[in-house]
Amino acid sequence: MKLLYTLFFAFCLTSSYSQATNDYFETIRDNEVALTAFFSHMPKGGDLHHHFSGSIYAEPLLQRAIAANFYLNTETMDVRKEKPSSGDWQLFSTLKTNGTLDSYQQKIMQKWSIKDYNYVDYPSDKLFFESFMKFEPAIKGNFGQGLLELKNRAISENVSYIETQLSTIPTTLNTDDLTKFNSRLRKLALAKDEKAILTTLDSVYSSLLKKEAESYAKDFNTNFVAKLHKDLKIDDKQFTMRYQNFVLRFMEPVDLFKNLVIAFISADESPLIAGVNIVSPEDGATSMKDYWLHMIMFKYCHSRYPDVKYAMHAGELTLGLVQPEELTWHISAAVYTAGANRIGHGVDLAYEKDSYDLLRYMAKKSIPIEINLVSNEFILKVKDSRHPLTMYKEFGVPIVISTDDAGILRTNMTEQYVLLAKRYKGVSYSDIKQYVYNSINYSFIKDEGVKKQLLKDLDLRFKTFEANFPMK
Ligand SMILES: [Zn+2]
Repeated sequence: MKLLYTLFFAFCLTSSYSQATNDYFETIRDNEVALTAFFSHMPKGGDLHHHFSGSIYAEPLLQRAIAANFYLNTETMDVRKEKPSSGDWQLFSTLKTNGTLDSYQQKIMQKWSIKDYNYVDYPSDKLFFESFMKFEPAIKGNFGQGLLELKNRAISENVSYIETQLSTIPTTLNTDDLTKFNSRLRKLALAKDEKAILTTLDSVYSSLLKKEAESYAKDFNTNFVAKLHKDLKIDDKQFTMRYQNFVLRFMEPVDLFKNLVIAFISADESPLIAGVNIVSPEDGATSMKDYWLHMIMFKYCHSRYPDVKYAMHAGELTLGLVQPEELTWHISAAVYTAGANRIGHGVDLAYEKDSYDLLRYMAKKSIPIEINLVSNEFILKVKDSRHPLTMYKEFGVPIVISTDDAGILRTNMTEQYVLLAKRYKGVSYSDIKQYVYNSINYSFIKDEGVKKQLLKDLDLRFKTFEANFPMK
């Protein structure tokens, strides 16, 4: 009996703290600075849509490039380890000697991130997507420092889990003898001949296995991911990280499929690789041309490796960016054809052909939507009521809040929640709490024990957080 009273008392206390937190939250809805303090303290669970290289801030990347004395292209702000044959490339040490380093540092920051962006001189999506290749050499070989930066930032803003899209898996597997399949696959895709595509992929898959595709996955899992994760002691009491492999949309079909097969093998075998993704601009010429073919490739890999989970960028498009017809089917194809376990962005939802059915299906099958408010505003210029967040909410599609590329976008997890609260008054404190719990429940963590521990930890963090209210 005594235990019952204690439990009842604890429940009342918890809910009254929760109510007081909600009451306070409603008073600060339009106060950005108060919301920032509120959400800085609030436990935020996981960041499930997170690109490793886009999440590192430009400052440390630049310091690494200078320390390594890379070559800087003084027009484009690209850095390279070896001097390319064309273009004006200067060593950082030369810039230091001739006194121009400071002014270049400023220019570099403006090309490697959205710092000082004025929305006039340059297309925002172009600036965003171009930045990756400019600083890429400063990422290579510095994965450890990058992972620690992300971990430390997460801990400091009460984020306990990150599922980061780490890398494509390096491979030297030669596909010269398979390139004939590129045009064949595209032809079949044009004819929407799914059966023939699957048969063709079967032949390519067999060839890839004969060429020891698995060895690249094993090497990546053991000598890169597991080693980094263990050596850096990434997981501890406060923080957990898991990784996603990804493939690049702009690659030729056979090479993309090769990378996808290796990514699936890797995710199937490693406890640390939680899933697979597909990245790079969705509106690119090859991405658009081969979109449906990519969906069939995921479907094929799923049939081979049914335990592997995959989130897919889909519908990161809007009116004006592509022809309107192209806005009607990408999310549906990722959900129905490819069988995605989570959808990244889903911004063009309202243009989907059968958007209501799609929303009902996503809700019924518990396929979450990864919402990236800062990213969508910068890259697509979609915000406020043009953003489909409220529709996903209304239909009961599970929502998770994520950063996408906090480094390039110079944002953090807190800012996502500030915008969410400020822009969408129908989203209550308890909805927000639900989104935070979703970010653990819908993560791709394989070990149920780890998931349970993160959820338990989240309960405790919320208890501590809510004890701040009412404000004394
Ligand atoms: Zn993304």
